[in-house]
Amino acid sequence: MAKCDVTDCEKTAERSLPEEKIADALKKEGLKLAKAKHRSRRANLCKDHYRVIKKHLKKASKIERMRCRVIKKHQKKSSKIERMRL
Ligand SMILES: [Zn+2]
Repeated sequence: MAKCDVTDCEKTAERSLPEEKIADALKKEGLKLAKAKHRSRRANLCKDHYRVIKKHLKKASKIERMRCRVIKKHQKKSSKIERMRL
């Protein structure tokens, strides 16, 4: 069984996530991965750390969705302008 990649964590890993995806979340929590695994680019996380990281991932995706909505609004507005111009 793989172990959690977070420094000083000895728990069994239950999930693995791409390192780049969780990098920000780790930083926010003040966590570090024990070793950079450049080959696999995936970090193993125990149940506890996964829960902590997931919290941040959810928040990020919510912001992403909000950003999409704003962009859509802008697109509508610009198409209206486009029509007015025509
Ligand atoms: Zn852990």
